[in-house]
Amino acid sequence: MPKLKCCICGLGDNSTYKKVDNYYLMRCKNCGLIYLDQTYSEQYDFIDDAKKDIKNEDKEKVEYWSFPQLYYKHKKVFIKYFKERLKRIRKYHPNPKTILDVGCGYGFWMDYCRRKGIICEGIDISKESIDYIQNTFHLNAWRQNLMEFDTDKKYDAILMFDVIEHLENPNKGLSKCKNLLKEGGLLYLQVPNLIGFKIPLNHGYGLPYHFCNIKWIPFRFLANVVSSKVFDFQKKLVLNNTLSLVFKYACCCMWLFFCFFLFLFVVVYGFVKGVSC
Ligand SMILES: [Zn+2]
Repeated sequence: MPKLKCCICGLGDNSTYKKVDNYYLMRCKNCGLIYLDQTYSEQYDFIDDAKKDIKNEDKEKVEYWSFPQLYYKHKKVFIKYFKERLKRIRKYHPNPKTILDVGCGYGFWMDYCRRKGIICEGIDISKESIDYIQNTFHLNAWRQNLMEFDTDKKYDAILMFDVIEHLENPNKGLSKCKNLLKEGGLLYLQVPNLIGFKIPLNHGYGLPYHFCNIKWIPFRFLANVVSSKVFDFQKKLVLNNTLSLVFKYACCCMWLFFCFFLFLFVVVYGFVKGVSC
């Protein structure tokens, strides 16, 4: 069995995290990254495979949601999601005028941005999705791999939604993004959650298309490769999402404990009082 080195820190000290079907997921002992122990050269099959899956109604809700038929079927959900996304982007970059969407799919998000007065350009490796964007929305979208994308432009924000886990070398991918960003620009990453609930089981691993599953600790390593600015962004994101949720949960537990002990005190006090009378 081959033992690939960690694609973030470059070290080969790893252990088997899990075997899923015929694939081995490894855990880097240095940075904690979970990664696929092989490369997958036929990335273009991803769209075709996803299409086969959406024919199965049971899987529809958890499969590749960006297909036009699914977008139009669940448009309200998408728009709500886009609204939240733009709100979050503006929190870290108040006025993004130009955005590059890496892995733009069929361009619904790009079209949403245009309606909000933002110039959003996109790249994707799928010819079908790029043709769709050009024919339907007439927006700037190119069939390009991130590493081969060549432009003199600099963007206010670069977005990668469920993309970085498809890159064989996330370090190089982020460095490339850094070069495409304006000074003070925002890099916005969305990654799948490896520890969330998955239905069907093992679905979330996205094998063999997901090379790595980036959680917070490996991301700190990854961000340090690029610049401290990305790291600051990640830190804010943790505080705003994960920690605030943990904090709310802790407060809720404290109130429950307090009520429980108050109830206990009242019962015991009542009992003692009753006995002494
Ligand atoms: Zn590592």
